[in-house]
Amino acid sequence: LPAILKEALPILQKIKQAGFEAYFVGGCVRDTLLNKPLHDIDLATNAYPQELKQIFTHTVDTGIEHGTVTVVTAKQNYEITTFRTETGYQDYRRPDHVEFVRSLAEDLKRRDFTINALAMDLDGRIIDLFGGVADLKSHRIKAVGQAQERFHEDALRMMRAVRFQAQLGFTIVPSTLKGITENASLLKKIAIERISDEWLRMMCGDNWQLGLQSMLTTKLYKYCPQFTEQDFTKLLQVSLTRLQNASQVWTLLGLVWNLPLNSLNRLLRTWKVSNEVRHLTLMSVRFLRQSKPTDWDLYQTEGATIDNCVQLLQVLQKNVVAQQLQKRYSLLPIHSLQDVKINGQQIMQQLNLTPGPQIGANLRLVQQQIVANKLANEPVAIINYLRAQQ
Ligand code: ATP
Ligand code: MG
Repeated sequence: LPAILKEALPILQKIKQAGFEAYFVGGCVRDTLLNKPLHDIDLATNAYPQELKQIFTHTVDTGIEHGTVTVVTAKQNYEITTFRTETGYQDYRRPDHVEFVRSLAEDLKRRDFTINALAMDLDGRIIDLFGGVADLKSHRIKAVGQAQERFHEDALRMMRAVRFQAQLGFTIVPSTLKGITENASLLKKIAIERISDEWLRMMCGDNWQLGLQSMLTTKLYKYCPQFTEQDFTKLLQVSLTRLQNASQVWTLLGLVWNLPLNSLNRLLRTWKVSNEVRHLTLMSVRFLRQSKPTDWDLYQTEGATIDNCVQLLQVLQKNVVAQQLQKRYSLLPIHSLQDVKINGQQIMQQLNLTPGPQIGANLRLVQQQIVANKLANEPVAIINYLRAQQ
């Protein structure tokens, strides 16, 4: 057993001693069998949430209505989910009804793919009811039960299929691929941030071309707003190199390279990618096009983002531009509000102001002036400047 699973054994033992069953489930079992590094552990049990809360002294009700309780230990927290069935997916994304059950088999049946429907007990024995081990060995992604039905229940599973394909380099079996083709349009029902999250994870997979190809074959791409078949086909021809911590941006860049900045910004907002990813993408595109961001743009970007951008430019062999960026950033007179030699409190006192939005506005003005090298970062100079503005 991998070390992080071993550490969780006392939790499973304790549940067992109380007379219940408990297993490792989901991604951690799959990745253990594949000898891949584990990032999170999912535990499942036939004990109901209230019963779990009696077994462990320190718990948090993370998602108790769905049956998830977090057990807090000195070293780590563990999410334990009660076996459950889900019924009535009227909106193609969420079950109307969750029912706690005592049977592991029922719980495994609701899971998306056979390779994700494996459980492992305390002794490392695998419970495999749907041929998941064979599918792992032959590198297959296959829906549990009728693919058609499963994607109809929850349309996000289609994006998960192509994401796992890209991460694992597996093939999606024909019946499952057919299920995706027939239900692709249901993706419209899914919140955009959940789609873009899966999409970016797919693009960060070592075998992203496989996932992208499946999106084209099944026409899933049509339901990713703003992207055309041409965009996807073009992206397939790009060769992407991985970057540390910035791979989401790097993959995005392949697609958005030619868009005007304002449409690019609109696209990133539509996709609701994180602010970090949006800033970094926009800035990288600017640099790649040799239209330099202003000092104020640089100031508003976090240092970590700048580092990623520098790394990105180096991978693109734009070393001179990378150096310029690094240098310009380090030469900024200040890098955040903390560096400003005066605070809101002092501004209020010195200028006889009452709390309100004008304090923030003054601070912003001060930062802009300092970054533009038009004002010394020095208390007296700052106050005199602000007095002159009044
Ligand atoms: P990773 O954590 O590497 O993304 P994972 O398989 O652990 O992969 P999670 O999203 O953490 O994926 O979910 C844990 C498990 O819950 C899955 O392995 C699967 O059994 C089940 N699961 C998650 N999302 C769904 C879903 N939309 N439909 C059905 N089962 C799901
Ligand atoms: Mg997981």
